Amino acid sequence: MLTARILFPMPLPEPFDYAIPDGLQIEVGSYVRAPLGKHERTGVVWEIVDDQTERELKSVVSVFPTPPMPAAMRQFIIFCARYNVAGAGQVLAMALRSRGGLAASPTQTVYDLTGHRTNRMTPAREKVLDAAKAIGPASAADLAREADVSSSVIKGLVEAGSLKADKVATDLAFPAPDPTLSGHDLTPEQSAAGKTLRQAVIDGGFKPFLLDGITGSGKTEVYFEAIAETLAKDPTAQILVLLPEIALTQAVLERFEDRFGAGPAPWHSSLSDIERRRTWRETAHGRARIVTGARSALFLPFRNLKLIIVDEEHDTSFKQEEGVTYHARDMAVMRAKMEGAAVILASATPALETVVNAEAGRYERLKLSARPGAARLPDMYLVDMRSNTPEKGEWLSPVLKRGLVATKEAGEQSLLFLNRRGYAPLVICKSCGERLKSPGTESWLTEHRYSNRLVCHLTGWSMAKPDNCPLCGAKDSLMGVGPGVERIAEEVRILLPNAKVEIFSSDTAHGGAETMGIVERMASGEIDVLVGTQIVAKGHNFPNLTLVGVVDADSGLQGGDLRAGERTYQLLSQVAGRAGRAERPGKALVQTYQPDNPAMQALAAGDRDGFLQIERDVREELLLPPFGRMAALILSATDANMSKEIGLLAGKSAPHGEGVTVYGPAPAPIGVLRGRYRTRFLITSPREVDLSAYMAAWLKVLKLPSAARVRADIDPYSFL
Ligand code: ADP
Repeated sequence: MLTARILFPMPLPEPFDYAIPDGLQIEVGSYVRAPLGKHERTGVVWEIVDDQTERELKSVVSVFPTPPMPAAMRQFIIFCARYNVAGAGQVLAMALRSRGGLAASPTQTVYDLTGHRTNRMTPAREKVLDAAKAIGPASAADLAREADVSSSVIKGLVEAGSLKADKVATDLAFPAPDPTLSGHDLTPEQSAAGKTLRQAVIDGGFKPFLLDGITGSGKTEVYFEAIAETLAKDPTAQILVLLPEIALTQAVLERFEDRFGAGPAPWHSSLSDIERRRTWRETAHGRARIVTGARSALFLPFRNLKLIIVDEEHDTSFKQEEGVTYHARDMAVMRAKMEGAAVILASATPALETVVNAEAGRYERLKLSARPGAARLPDMYLVDMRSNTPEKGEWLSPVLKRGLVATKEAGEQSLLFLNRRGYAPLVICKSCGERLKSPGTESWLTEHRYSNRLVCHLTGWSMAKPDNCPLCGAKDSLMGVGPGVERIAEEVRILLPNAKVEIFSSDTAHGGAETMGIVERMASGEIDVLVGTQIVAKGHNFPNLTLVGVVDADSGLQGGDLRAGERTYQLLSQVAGRAGRAERPGKALVQTYQPDNPAMQALAAGDRDGFLQIERDVREELLLPPFGRMAALILSATDANMSKEIGLLAGKSAPHGEGVTVYGPAPAPIGVLRGRYRTRFLITSPREVDLSAYMAAWLKVLKLPSAARVRADIDPYSFL
C-alpha cells in the first residue's frame, strides 16, 4: 500500500503516515489536508513509501492546487532544523506563513462595457458608462462610487446588455520584470564586477560572492546586473533579495521598478494577510520573478530559485532571536548551495565571518572602491569628549555645536545620530532614588515626551507618565536621565531657533508613508537638522547633507559582547556614509570618551581592513567565531528558585563532548523578562566540532518540569 509520510508545520518529532486514497494525485512535496487528532490540518508530503505492514491508517483528505514543494526546499528545511537545533515541523511552519496562499485566489465580479448602447438611457446610466470607460473593469461598488449612483443602475445596465459581468481573481499576478532595460552607464570597476556576476549566472550552479564596496559605490547597480542576467537566461528563474526589515522602504522598491520596469513582490512583517498570501502564492507557483523581503522571505517555497542577494549582509537583524533561532545570511548561503544558485552578500562593512570566508577562498570577493562621479566619503574626526566637554545638562560638544551653526549658515544640512529612542533612557525618582522598571521585566523605562509615556523598549509595555512616583508617592519627583533623540532635538532647537529640526526614529516613522515623508523632506532640503536612531543609517541618499554628528559613539561598545566593536564600527561608518554622497564633501564628527579604542581609531583613519585585522587577531587567539564555534542554552521559569534549580539540573546533564566547554549556569544579564526568570549557558568548541549535534544531544537528555522553557541558540548574537 502506498503511504504518504506527512510533515505538519508544528513541533512534532517526525512525519506521520497516511493512506493515499485512490484517485488522489499526490507526489512528494504536495501540500495536503489530513486528519491529526480531532482536527484536519495542512501538511506537506515528505516521502511516499510502499508500506507492507497492512496497518489501518487514516487517509489523506485532499490536495492543494499548489505546485509541490521542490526537493531543494525540503532538503533546506531539514538542514535548517538540524543546524539550528529545531524540529523540521517548526521550520516548515516558517515556510507556510500564509495558509491563504495555498488556495487559488478568491474571485470577484467586475463589470465592463460591452459596446452595446441601450436606447433607454438616463443621466445616471450615462454617468456609469462614462465611469466604466474611465476606470475599466471594476466591481459594482467601485463603479457606483465613481459614477456617484446607486448600484441598482449597474444591474439595470447589465440587463440592458450595455455592461457585462466577469469573474476575475482578486489577487493579481505581479507584473513581469524586463531584463532588457538598462541602468546607469557603469564605471569600469562596476562593469568588471557586473561581468563576473553575469558570467556566474550564465555558468549556473552554486557560487557565493562577497560584493564588498564602500557606501554609495554602486553595489545595488552591480547586483542588478546579476538579476538582469538571471531573468534573461531562464524565463522561469526566480530571484530573492534579502534586506534588513528597516531598509525595505518604498524608495528601494522604486529602484527595482526603475531598473526592471516592474516592482518586486514584497515580503515583510507589515504586509496585510491579503498581500502576504499573494506573494506566497505567486512565489510558490513560480510566477513572482523577483521577491524582496526581510529575513523570513528565505523560507518562501520558490520553484526555481537561481539567485539570492543578501544586501547589508552584516546587519544583525538577519539573526532571528525568537522561535527557531537562525541567521538568515548563513542560511541563505546554504539554501543557494542546495538550489544550485548564485548568492551575493553585499556590504560596505562586511561581517568578520564573511571576510574570513572570502579570504579562505570560499567566497569570491568583488571590490568597489570608488563612488561614481565626484561623490566621496566624508572626512572623519574624533571629538575627544574629555577635553570638549558639553555644558552642564547638554550633550553636544562645543565643536559639534559650532559645526551645526556653520552648516546651517552655509544653507546645508546636518544629521545627528543617537541610537536611543525617546527623551531619556532612564527615569529616576528624585525623592526615593528608584529607577523605574517595566513590570515583570528587568529593563528600565524610557521617557517619551512626544507621547508623554514611559515605555519599555524590550517588551513594548508602556504607561502614561505619572505625576507621582509609583513607589514612594512623591509629587513631581520623576526625572529623565541621559539623552534620547527627543532631548537632542530640544538642544538643537535652542541652539538654532530658526532651523527646521525633525526626529527620525521608529516612533516618528511608523509606516512606509511616514518614513518616505521624512526621507523626502530631508532629500529636498526642507529639514535643516535630522536627529535619528539607527533607522537613518540605511541607504538613504541626502545630497545636501554635509555634517554628520555622532552624539555618543561609545554607547555600542558597552555590554561587552563579542561583536560590540565590530557592530559599532559598522553602524558608525554607515551613518557617516550618509554625508558627502553628492558633489559636496562632508564631514563627520564622532563624539567619544574613548578616542584610543581601536574601533574609533580605525573609523577616524577610514581603515576598515586594519580594524578587521585587529578583530580577527583577537578572535583567532581566543578561538571565538569564526575561528571556533559558540552556542547558548537559555532556560527560563516563572519563579526565581525554579530558574536556579533547572540551571543546576541542566548543568549536570550536559553531555561530554570532545573539545566542548560549557560555561554556566549563570543568571542572564536580563534576569527577568515578561515575568520569567532566565538562566544562560555559553558553550564553545573548536570549528571541527558539530556543536548542533552536541546541543541536540543535550536537549534530548534534559528532562525539565513543564513550567520551564529551554531553547538553544547556535552562534548567538545576543548575550542578554
Ligand atoms: P551602494 O548600494 O553601494 O550604496 P548604490 O547602488 O545605491 O550604492 O549607488 C549609490 C548612488 O549612486 C545611487 O543613487 C545610484 O543610482 C548612483 N550610481 C551608482 N552607480 C552609478 C553610475 N555608474 N552612474 C551614475 N550613478 C550611479
